[in-house]
Amino acid sequence: MYIRISPMAKITFLGAARTVTGSKYLVEAGGKRLLVDCGLFEGSKELKQRNWEKLPVDPRTIDWVLLTHAHIDHTGYLPRLVRDGFRGPIYSNAATHELCALLLPDSAHLQEEDSQYAAKKGYSAHRPPLPLYTVAAAQRALEEFRVIPRADKFAISPQFSVRPHDAGHILGSSWLELTITENGRQTLVVFSGDVGRYEQPILKDPEPPKDADFLLCESTYGDRDHPTVSVEDELADVVNRTAKRGGSVIIPAFTVGRTQTLMYYLRRLEEQQRIPHLPVYVDSPMAINVTALYMSHHEDHDTEFSALESAGSHDPLNCHEVHMTRTVEESKKINEVVTPCIIISASGMITGGRIKHHLARRLPDSRNAVLLVGYQAEGSGGRLLQEGAKYLPLFHEQVPVRAEIVDVGQLSAHAGKSELLRWLSGVQVKPRQTFLVHGEPPALDSFRTAITAQFHWPVTIPDYQQSFDLSV
Ligand SMILES: [Zn+2]
Repeated sequence: MYIRISPMAKITFLGAARTVTGSKYLVEAGGKRLLVDCGLFEGSKELKQRNWEKLPVDPRTIDWVLLTHAHIDHTGYLPRLVRDGFRGPIYSNAATHELCALLLPDSAHLQEEDSQYAAKKGYSAHRPPLPLYTVAAAQRALEEFRVIPRADKFAISPQFSVRPHDAGHILGSSWLELTITENGRQTLVVFSGDVGRYEQPILKDPEPPKDADFLLCESTYGDRDHPTVSVEDELADVVNRTAKRGGSVIIPAFTVGRTQTLMYYLRRLEEQQRIPHLPVYVDSPMAINVTALYMSHHEDHDTEFSALESAGSHDPLNCHEVHMTRTVEESKKINEVVTPCIIISASGMITGGRIKHHLARRLPDSRNAVLLVGYQAEGSGGRLLQEGAKYLPLFHEQVPVRAEIVDVGQLSAHAGKSELLRWLSGVQVKPRQTFLVHGEPPALDSFRTAITAQFHWPVTIPDYQQSFDLSV
């Protein structure tokens, strides 16, 4: 049974409710349906299973999709939505569209590879093993994209209009100010998307929201702040001590954002002669393309990065000796490198991708170091390493963890607790309701307490599939 169309303004939480993935918020008004973000559930088996369950809403009844940014936990369900009958349009800015054109086929490719691998090894829940969606389905979804302005107001319909603002999280990332017009009344709903960091390289800082009747705020780091020690100091230390003992540095990193930030810092450290010129392997078929997008979307660059670019002295997102590996053969060849090197590969949470092969090869060697540079969701390989696991399950084998594990929290693309509070402090008038989303329960609870203490706002932590009236 599908949820029936609501005649009144309403929001339903179809993902990122008490968890950090699967962002999907259904907004209804005047008999029309707008889905804000369309993410994939990632992490534990139980969460991933939700991707296979029927969506509680008939995709054919959704009129539009609107995206905050390109990360798969905000867009990765789109091919399935289109396959199941959604017929566009999907609204995003140009950078998000171009990133999705790389990320969605890649996500499909990984699903196809996983299902083929499962078929070969005979351990799939589906017989025969099927991918959640194919590369062709991802291409089909991309046909439904329509580009909207980066920062200007855009009218979707008589009921909905949106104004996007910089979120400072990844290239193209926005928080959205959605105006719902119903019976001559306007209601403002703010979707934080993922809020980035302040004073980070490359991208502009997050812009603060000023006004909201209803506010959805991500809470990934709602219970903690990032360490304040310098990222460059920490990176320099770990690279130097690992190289000294003859080991390599392996960095599971998302291709979008973290890889570029890492390259920016490594390049600077090389120029300041604070680290040796080690070969850097960026083992990702699309890293080159993503880096090119980062360079070409000047509208997202902060003043420091723009100045660096106009100085034109060097390529600020590439190290001295960098190898971009596209093919599987090239990737496997990295296994033969026995002298110190740096390997950057996806996925950032060790939930799939080529990083698994590198870790299977290099985790058992105590000379090596593994750097965790982003949020590690519950149930992910990265979380296990973060929690000090002695063995990591990879390819159905228990791989001993002898390498040094270093958690570089400052490299996170998500605002820490104080940064989230700083972002919220822009709001002038108490929202009628604040919904905390995109966080695990301890982070959500802690962040609710902080908001109540600092702003005295009403705060709700919605459940999966819970609905709220927006017309009251
Ligand atoms: Zn994100």
